Formats: sequence, structure tokens, C-alpha cells
Amino acid sequence: MPKKNIFNFLRFTIATTGILCLFLALSQITYYAVRKKPDEQKPPVPITQNVLFLSSFDSMHANYDDKKNGLESVFLDNGIEFDISFMDVKSFKGDSDVSSFYNFFEERFNNNSAEYTGIVVSDDNALQFAMDHQEEFFKDLPIVFFAINNKERAEKAVANPYMTGVFEPDYIVDTAKTAMNSMPDRKTLVALHDESEAGLVDIDEFNEYMKSFPDYTVIELNAAKLTMAEIIEKLKTLPDDSIIFFMACYNDATGHKYSLLDIANIIQENTDAPIMRNYVGGREVGILGGTYMNAFDQARLAATILTDILINGAKVSDFGLYTDAASITCFNYGLMKRYGISEKMLPDDTVYINRPLSFRETYKEIIPAVALLMISMLCLVSAISFAFINEKMHVKDLEKSKSEIENSKFMLQYQAEHDELLDLLNRRSILKYMRNNLKADHRYSVMLFDIDGFKDVNENYGHKIGDRILNDIADRLKSFADSLDLTLGRYGGDEFIVINSGNWLNKDSEIVTGIVDIFNKPFMVEDVGILLSTSAGISNSDGVTEPQDHILNAEMALFEAKEHGKNMVCVYTDVMKQKFAEETNVKQAFLNALENDGLYMKYQPKVSAQTKEVIGYEALVRLKDSPYGPGQFIPIAEKNGWASKLGRATTALVVKQLAEWKKAGKTIYPVSVNYSSRQINDSGYVEFLESLLKLYGVDPGYIEIEITESLLMEESATSGKLFEDFRKLGIKLLLDDFGTGYSSLAYLTYVPVDNVKLDKSLVDTYLVEGKDAFIRDVIQLVHDIGKLITIEGVEEKWQYEKLREFNADAIQGYYFSKPLNPEDAIEFKAIE
Ligand code: C2E
Ligand code: CA
Ligand code: CA
Repeated sequence: MPKKNIFNFLRFTIATTGILCLFLALSQITYYAVRKKPDEQKPPVPITQNVLFLSSFDSMHANYDDKKNGLESVFLDNGIEFDISFMDVKSFKGDSDVSSFYNFFEERFNNNSAEYTGIVVSDDNALQFAMDHQEEFFKDLPIVFFAINNKERAEKAVANPYMTGVFEPDYIVDTAKTAMNSMPDRKTLVALHDESEAGLVDIDEFNEYMKSFPDYTVIELNAAKLTMAEIIEKLKTLPDDSIIFFMACYNDATGHKYSLLDIANIIQENTDAPIMRNYVGGREVGILGGTYMNAFDQARLAATILTDILINGAKVSDFGLYTDAASITCFNYGLMKRYGISEKMLPDDTVYINRPLSFRETYKEIIPAVALLMISMLCLVSAISFAFINEKMHVKDLEKSKSEIENSKFMLQYQAEHDELLDLLNRRSILKYMRNNLKADHRYSVMLFDIDGFKDVNENYGHKIGDRILNDIADRLKSFADSLDLTLGRYGGDEFIVINSGNWLNKDSEIVTGIVDIFNKPFMVEDVGILLSTSAGISNSDGVTEPQDHILNAEMALFEAKEHGKNMVCVYTDVMKQKFAEETNVKQAFLNALENDGLYMKYQPKVSAQTKEVIGYEALVRLKDSPYGPGQFIPIAEKNGWASKLGRATTALVVKQLAEWKKAGKTIYPVSVNYSSRQINDSGYVEFLESLLKLYGVDPGYIEIEITESLLMEESATSGKLFEDFRKLGIKLLLDDFGTGYSSLAYLTYVPVDNVKLDKSLVDTYLVEGKDAFIRDVIQLVHDIGKLITIEGVEEKWQYEKLREFNADAIQGYYFSKPLNPEDAIEFKAIE
């Protein structure tokens, strides 16, 4: 999957999750905001029973509310109402107090119209009262008790068929255990108690328990035997490792009553020891902690038992004495810190007061909503980030594609400007460069050069290797041009161009010789070094010529170099331009003639040296209405590749002429036709000639072909076949211009020529006094190998006579006749 799609998917998923979380968070918040408080007003259960709660303590007693609430939580749901009667034994517990209560209760109970169906009692005094007055007040009523500290009393009560309930164990041992565990360094345990029922149980159980810990020092402060001043004295002198166990203790030896707060204050004012307590209350006022009865749970348990009896018809005897009543371990968190106690040292279910709420506890209601909100925000921020990243990626992509486009534009432009094969500037961009960077009055030089004979390389090694060589050359040229800050380009084919800004060049300039050297170093092709050369034309700025025109000038100079035999450098001059212009005119005239019957033939008679009789003619081509002779237009025609066309045109004219002469009843003689070595590629020439002869009814014996030595040097297979074809057709061959080229008589031994034409230049040079023996020897030699010899360019009588003396076979020269029109030629006679 493309990266972009992954991003889009992630973005979508995260955004959706975010919106979902946001929705959930909002709905949760809405729920908190508008939720109904728990329905506190359940449909009222009809009241069917009325119960009396007889409480030892009044409503200000520390755990009274817990007891009342515990009862209420069961009774009300079961249609049970209850009245409360307080004995208030904390303040009034003497015998007279109890009898006062009896009086009070009797009056109330008897005057009360309420019909009680059950009794619930809390704490020892109330149970004792119920036991004492069962017959009188509670006859046949089930009595369920709780918070009873005196086990004997509880057991006795349970033996009563109408009584059952919950025994409240003393929690001093639990409190001591917790204290010893959480403050192991404190080895002095101080037991402060009085001699109340609870106080006595506390100290008994405590002492019993401490027997197992002989390394602890126990200091007992029995308030029933000490005045508060004495207690204070003792407190002040307690060892530093003390823990005070504030047990049941409400009076001192003087009988003075002390509230929980009073005693808590007294202890704190006189000692820094931690205060433990096995009763409810006091944790807010300096008591460190301890375990005590869970009054609410005990009350609930008692209420449940009574409800079961009253509503569900359970029997009192179904319930035994409950002894494992629930307790609460409660500690003041702030004081814990002071005494180095951590939560870990205390029982798991410890309740703490003054504990700062943890974040979770403080905000537990809104945490889910806040968490959802945060997740949603996180998701949305992530989605936005992803969108942003995606956008950035998109921008990057855009930038990338922009740069790709720019690159491809650049590539396209580069391709448009460069040659594909050689990676050089192409012709068009070279011209553009010149237009944009050069002015006629700048100083610069244009050099055009190509590989000499590259055509042959291609033909001999194939185009692949030809391309490789071009590439090698291009590479060499590139580094050369770069090093000298030259502008280099491929001008076409194997032609390269270099523009040298700032200076002119000549044949010997470093740049020029450098380039020439590049071509002179061998090019390796499959371990074979190929040697090449270059011809170059240079054109230097002259203040007037437009930059691009210098390319034409350089081209002319290059032509010139080629014409001068290749591997040459020519610097352009205006003469070349004239020559070039002339050539252009000649070319034009020739083409025009070729295409419009503008060619015609003159015939120069050949005369027998011995008899002066005409023995034949040489056909020489002319242009109608044109000043250009064959010496001018033929080389240009050949240079331009029109040799074959010219050859066929002249041949046709000659054959037609012969036919015409024949038709006119003239005696005809063989006519020799010049065959250019450039016609060698015209493989159908012999066939063409043959068909002409047939068409015009001319015997092949009337056509002779003049070839030159250069043809003999052509590839032997092609030329060999040509000679063979001529021979088969019955055409004689003459070797033209003998003495100008290689003049190798060796050729003559194997080339099937019948006649050798000695060139005029040889006649001019050697047919002079003292040198003419050479001519005589050549004639003799030609004869020796069985060929005839024709002497060309004979202009003087003495020359003719000399040649006749030397036994030449035929004479062709102005002495007898210039080339003539056909009608003159056929009438020509050398003998008067
Ligand atoms: P070439 O084949 O050597 O032809 C002989 C040239 O010598 C002719 O010149 C002829 O007019 C000239 N000539 C003959 N006798 C004398 C003389 O006594 N004195 C002087 N000064 N010149 C003499 P032309 O006709 O101008 O032809 C020149 C060259 O043009 C020929 O040399 C030949 O190479 C070429 N050429 C002429 N016609 C043809 C043709 O039809 N085909 C081809 N391929 N080449 C031709
Ligand atoms: Ca000739
Ligand atoms: Ca000749």
C-alpha cells in the first residue's frame, strides 16, 4: 500500500476513534450532570411491626449513629418501625441510675400505645436490663442483642429461649498487634484503662496477650487507682519508645469523669507517644489508630436476625450466639506520617481519616469522561497531525512531481539540445548558441572537422563499431573541450564543430593540433587499434560575417581540406568562397543539363599513326549553352555522386549517335566512352549498355571503354567482374591517362585492356630532344605485352612524326583535330 494511503487510513481511523471518544465523553458528562440522584424514596414498605431499640448509650455516644443506621437499613425495608429508649449509662450507670431508668421506662412503656413485637438491645447494660425485666416488659417477645462485651452475659442471654444476638469481642489484642507490627521499634506499651466493665476486659486481654512478648515493657496506668495528676506525671516520664493504649477509661481515682477528648488532650499534652485505641472515635483528635467494633454491621446483623424472626417466621432458637462480629481498623493518616507508619504496614482493609484523597479517588467520577476527552483530543490531534503530515507529504509529492516535471522538462530540453548518440550539443543548439553568444564584431573561431574515410570504417567494421568510435571520439573531445572552455557539438554524421570564443585559430593553434591529435591516437576495437585522421575547416570572425555564416565558411574550408587529400586543416579564405560559389554554379548548370537534355557529345578523331586514317573517336561530353567544360563540371558532378548518371547519359548519346551515323549511311568507327571509376557502383551499367546496343542495333564492337588506373586499384572482385562483363559483351577496354598515376605496367599484365592511352603530360614532358627515348621505350614495352598504344595531346607535326617513328599505333590530338560535332567528326579526314 502506498505510504499516502496508509496515512489516510490511519488518519480516518484515529479521527473516527477520536469522535467516538468525544461522543462517549460528552454523553458521560451529560449523564453526570443530569443523572437523577439514587432514588432515595423507594416505594414505602407498609409497616407491619413495631420494635423497641433499647440502647445503653444516648444519641451522643460515639457509635450510636452507626448502630441506629444499621438497624434502620434493615428494618425500614421490611416494614418494621422502631422506637428508641436510651439508658444513658455512660453518665449514669450506678444502681440508682438504673432504678431511675427503670421508673422512667416503666412509665413510658406502659403508657405507650405501641405494641412492640420485638426488642433489639445494644451493649451490656441494656441487655442486662432486658434480662432483668423480661417478664415484666418483654414477655414472649424476641430479644436480639448486639455490642455485648461481657461474654458470660451474652452466653447467658442466648440460653434464654427468647434471646439471641451478637457478642462484641474486645479489639485490644487486634489493636496491640497492629501497633506492634507498624511501630516495631517501640517496645514500651502503656495501657491506660479504668475499671469499667470494658476497661477490665481490655486490660485482662491485653495482659494475657502481652505474656507472649517478654521483650516488651508494659506500663499499666489504671485510672481507677490514679488521679489524673498522677497519670500526667507518669505520662511525662514515659520512655521515648512508648505506645499508649487508650482503652476504656472515663474516670480517675477521684471519680472525675473525662470525655474522650479530655483524655486524648491530656495524653498529647504530656507525651509525644502515639496513642492507640480499641474503640471508635478519637482519630480526629490525636488518636493514631486501632481496631474497634463495626457498630453498623453489628446492628445490621441484629436487625436481620430480628426481621427473620418477625417477618419470615424464624425461631429465636434457630440462632446461636454470634461471636465473629465485624470490626474496623481505622488510622489517622496525618499521625501515621508522624510515627513513620506506611499503609503497607497496616491491614488491607484499614480505613484512613485525614488521608488526602488520591487523584483517582478525588476525580474517580470524572476520570472516565476526562480520559475519554483526552483520548478523543489525542486522536483528533493525531488525526490533524496525520492530516498535516499527509498534507506535507502531499506538498512533498507535489514538490516532487513538480521537480519531476521540471526534471523531465529539463530532460526534454536537454534531449532537444543534445545529440542522442554522442551526448554533445546538436546542430540546432550550436546555432542557437552562436546566435545568442556571438556577434559579428566578436573575436572567435569556428572549426568544423570530420573523420577521414569514416564511411569505410562503417563499411568495414559495421555501424555498431562505427558508433563506438564516434563515442570514443566524442568522449575525448568532450574532456578536451572542457579543459579549454570550448563549445563542442556534433554537426551531423561524423562532423564535429568547435567554437572558440575570444580568439582566432589557425592550422598551428594548440586547439587545432590538439584536436588533430585526438584523431591520430588509435581507437581500440576488439584489441585492434584503428588509426583515423581528421580534416578540418576553420573560419575566423572578420567583423562582418554573421556568426552562423562562419559555419558555411568552415564547411568550405573543410571541403578544401578534403580536396587537398584529407588529414588537412584549411583556414577559410574568400577565394574558397568564390570557388565554392563557382562550384555551386557549375553544379547547378550540370544538374540542369542532366535533367533537361542539356548534355551533348563531341567526338575527337583518333588517327592511325602509320596511315593517318581515322580509326575511331573519343566521345567527350559538353554542356549546352554553358561556359563550363568537362574539366570543371565532371569533377563536381562526380563529387556530388552523379558519375553514374553522367556515364549512362553519355553512353546513350554515343550509342544513339552511332545509330544515327549508321542510319545516315556513314562508315562508322569505334567510339570510346570515358568510364569514371566512380561509376563502379553502377552494377547495371554493362546490362544497360547491352540493351542500348540492342535497342539501337549497334554492334558492341563500335563501343570502347576508357578506364583509368584508379579503377584498377578498386576492389578487385567488383572491377574484375566489370572487366569480365565488358569482355563477354565484346567491348574493348582502353587504359586512359597512362603516365599520370601509378603508371604501373604491372597492372597491364593482368588487366584485360587492349589499348593504352599515353597522357598528354607525358608527351609534353618527354617527347623533347634528348628525352624521347623514354617515350619510345614505353611504346615498345606496351607492345611487348601485346597491347596497342594511343598517344594523346599531340599538337605538333614533329611530335606526330616522332611518334610514328616510335611505332605508336594511334594519335589523338589537336594536330589532327579538336573534338568535333558529330556531323563534322564523321566527315573528318586527316589525309588531304
Ligand atoms: P581525357 O579523357 O584525357 O580526354 C582528353 C582530353 O584532352 C579532352 O579534353 C580533349 O579535348 C583534350 N585534348 C585532346 N588533344 C589535345 C591536344 O592536342 N591539346 C590539348 N590541350 N588538349 C587535348 P576535354 O574534352 O576537355 O576533356 C577533359 C577530360 O574530361 C577528359 O580527359 C576526361 O577525363 C573528361 N571527360 C570528357 N568527356 C567525358 C565523358 O564523356 N565522360 C567522362 N567520364 N569523362 C569525360
Ligand atoms: Ca579519355
Ligand atoms: Ca586521357
